[in-house]
Amino acid sequence: MQYAVLKKEYLNEFITRLAQDQKVIAPVAKGYNQFAFEEVKSGEKVALDHIPTILPPKKYFMPQYETLATYHANSSQKMNPVVECEDLILFGVHTCDLAGIQCLNMVFSERPKDINYLIRKSKITIIGYGCNDYCDEYASCRLVHSHTPNGGYDLFFINLGDKFFVHINTLAGDEITEKTNLFEPATPADLNALAKIREKKREIFANEVPVVHERMPEMFSKSYDSNVWEDLGKRCLACGNCTNVCPTCYCFDVTDEPNLDLQTGKRFRRWDSCQNEAFAKVAGGESFRKERSARQRHRYFRKFKYPMEKFSRLFCTGCGRCSRTCMAKINLKETLNQLVEEQGMKNLKAGRETE
Ligand code: SF4
Ligand code: SF4
Repeated sequence: MQYAVLKKEYLNEFITRLAQDQKVIAPVAKGYNQFAFEEVKSGEKVALDHIPTILPPKKYFMPQYETLATYHANSSQKMNPVVECEDLILFGVHTCDLAGIQCLNMVFSERPKDINYLIRKSKITIIGYGCNDYCDEYASCRLVHSHTPNGGYDLFFINLGDKFFVHINTLAGDEITEKTNLFEPATPADLNALAKIREKKREIFANEVPVVHERMPEMFSKSYDSNVWEDLGKRCLACGNCTNVCPTCYCFDVTDEPNLDLQTGKRFRRWDSCQNEAFAKVAGGESFRKERSARQRHRYFRKFKYPMEKFSRLFCTGCGRCSRTCMAKINLKETLNQLVEEQGMKNLKAGRETE
């Protein structure tokens, strides 16, 4: 069966059955309007209709701190590779975060392939969840077309009221429905209910930035010397929060840490941020992006211009986390709106010609 339904009253039992064999990770509430992915044993604490979690699920694909190898100076095999991974089921991944995982998959599958990432990815089963209502003023998923699912999941749940409509997308997803034995085939009435929800979603999810996403790289090409970056540079605190919470930021630093015997030790990597001044520093003390304005511009260009040239897709999923977390109230949608005004890109259609 490709389409199925799960009655809402069975959600708790579904998670409980899954958690009997495997670690299940799902979003749970963390104080007022804050959510985080963490291990759950049942469905009781799972929060599905919520704004994006504080950190995206990328933390399971590329942990904040990860040992890559141990070394022994006097051993014949001096470096021993390490892959820290475990079987996981990620439940309740919103469409913006599915898009973020797809971006990371592209980056880490490039040659030279990142084996640690790819092994970890192969052990993670993903169950996506579609938001039926717009989440908050920071989200811009409609702008970048990530308000609807574009693959990247094993199962996908959509809330139909008293039940979930479920798309079974992979063999792993099929095995879950078989094993938990709580699903029923979807009926024509369920498919009609799904079509109505999709129709309603088209009205609810508005694009608040008046530029078509195909023209974004063009807009950024014209904006290299914009005053917008100077303004952001004056306000930015260079804390790096925006990149830490971004589902598509993947920069890291690699360090060797010797033990006290100075013969053994480990090589690890941890998240880094292009917003730190030291990030672009090279030998001799020069920095490519000394000014915060240049670092802010770089962050935006890494979302809306460079990845289009390299991967033919935008690397912003519209999750809104960067704006939600910024202490200086730097807001992605405001910045985009300023650039649209400045470059005269308002309401232009897709294509290179100016209408
Ligand atoms: S979160 Fe805000 S203040 Fe911190 S580095 Fe990012 S833009 Fe600057
Ligand atoms: S740039 Fe901001 S809105 Fe876009 S994916 Fe990153 S955190 Fe989300």
